[in-house]
Amino acid sequence: MEATITPTTLQSATTAADLKKAEKTAYENNKLHKRLCRQVGQAIGDFNMIEDGDKVMVCLSGGKDSYALLDILMTLRERAPIHFDIVAVNLDQKQPNFPAHVLPEYLEKLGVPYHIENQDTYSIVKRVIPEGKTTCSLCSRLRRGILYRVADELGATKIALGHHRDDILETFFLNMFFGAKIKGMPAKLQSDDGKHIVIRPLAYVKESDTERYAELKQFPIIPCDLCGSQENLQRKQIKGLMREWEKKFPGRVENIFSALSTVVPSHLMDRTRFDFAGLAATGVADPDGDIAFDEEPCATPAAESTIIRLHADD
Ligand code: SF4
Repeated sequence: MEATITPTTLQSATTAADLKKAEKTAYENNKLHKRLCRQVGQAIGDFNMIEDGDKVMVCLSGGKDSYALLDILMTLRERAPIHFDIVAVNLDQKQPNFPAHVLPEYLEKLGVPYHIENQDTYSIVKRVIPEGKTTCSLCSRLRRGILYRVADELGATKIALGHHRDDILETFFLNMFFGAKIKGMPAKLQSDDGKHIVIRPLAYVKESDTERYAELKQFPIIPCDLCGSQENLQRKQIKGLMREWEKKFPGRVENIFSALSTVVPSHLMDRTRFDFAGLAATGVADPDGDIAFDEEPCATPAAESTIIRLHADD
């Protein structure tokens, strides 16, 4: 099903200037939809996320990202050369004021098979975690276990989550800054119970694009602070840092993201990933090998443009 984006403003534009503006908005919106489809299709292909005959369980929280994920996957399914099924799943954790009617109404209208799982994890978390302590880790653990069980019951072969590029980068920095690890959030992984494959088809999508898409499609967003837990402060700071980089140093965030798929273990320090102890000269020159005495930085084109811009700003 091709999503047709026809802003109502286009129909209601009265003056020539209005019409031009409305046409430009419609053009930008179509570009955004195409970009999302292209990036999600690319991630699915690169990581072989979805195969013929798969039943993909799309986890829907009511936030902008999971709505975008479901919407784009439904578009791609219509165009895909393979057959796969989609089932949308929401876990109603019985948080206070959770508007339980919103998702079923939306999903009915969309005509997609869905399942709402009702489990009062909110009360469990409140009972077990002392007041003032962070509840997210137990809450996520409970949620994960329930979703794996539901995937089994529904016969889902893949579990799709709505994490995007910025979530992946934030996790990468959090792990590095606070966990002393080079570790991100994979686009595809085996679940920790070893029974499921979890996929993140929005892995190449920028958060600002899911924000714009959610506005454009008027998704009925459910607020994510109903549990009363504060947003992780460290994640918030990293998000702010990345937004500042995007403004000040175009290309930097893209370069960091590309770096996640261009790892050179021989030029890091992890002895379990590279046999430094057994390293011996082969006598064969390697053009990509030792550049230890070369001038820094070893700029890529995008990094170079940042450096040039930096100097121009001096
Ligand atoms: S923010 Fe609330 S709902 Fe989300 S993981 Fe934390 S405790 Fe659970």
